[in-house]
Amino acid sequence: MKKFSPILQDLIEAFKQLPGIGVKSAQRIVFYLLQGNTDKALFLAETIQNSLVSIQECKICRMYSEEELCEICKDTKRDQSLLCIVESPADLMALENTMQFNGRYFVLMGHLSPIDGIGPDELKINQLKELFDLNTINEVILATSPTVDGEATAAYIASVAGKFDIKATRIAYGVPFGGEIEYVDSNTLIQAMLNRNTIGKQ
Ligand SMILES: [Zn+2]
Repeated sequence: MKKFSPILQDLIEAFKQLPGIGVKSAQRIVFYLLQGNTDKALFLAETIQNSLVSIQECKICRMYSEEELCEICKDTKRDQSLLCIVESPADLMALENTMQFNGRYFVLMGHLSPIDGIGPDELKINQLKELFDLNTINEVILATSPTVDGEATAAYIASVAGKFDIKATRIAYGVPFGGEIEYVDSNTLIQAMLNRNTIGKQ
């Protein structure tokens, strides 16, 4: 005999499966939704359903969009000569929120990972090559994560870009803004030293 309502347990289980949500958080969310927040619960359910039906990958950059082309790819004011490669839609959003980049993006939806069977086909590198082939891109900015797989992915795409005579650059990384040197791990500190920029007199 189950102690609690099976539907209630299913609902908690459904939230528990989401990234970053443990059983306590799942319970809190479920009880919040059930305790007089019907409107919010219905909005959540409808929005998820709508998203699953409507959202697809942009035909150019693979960002999620409900139209064939996303807002960024449709925007003719964006610089078509700059293409920033990111691993995920969340990475694209983070860069876009800085409001410092006016080029376009390509979302890999992952990174090369031979152990997991993720190769160039899974990252749709052929779709990226079609973009390279348009002859509008002067520079590819590789903004994949500073992990072993992220570096391997960046190196691979740089070599592909090279075949199209397109310059590839890697984002610099190092000490986080507002961070204190003594708390930064040594690998990050080494990268920060290697990627130093000239200030003052050139
Ligand atoms: Zn797009």
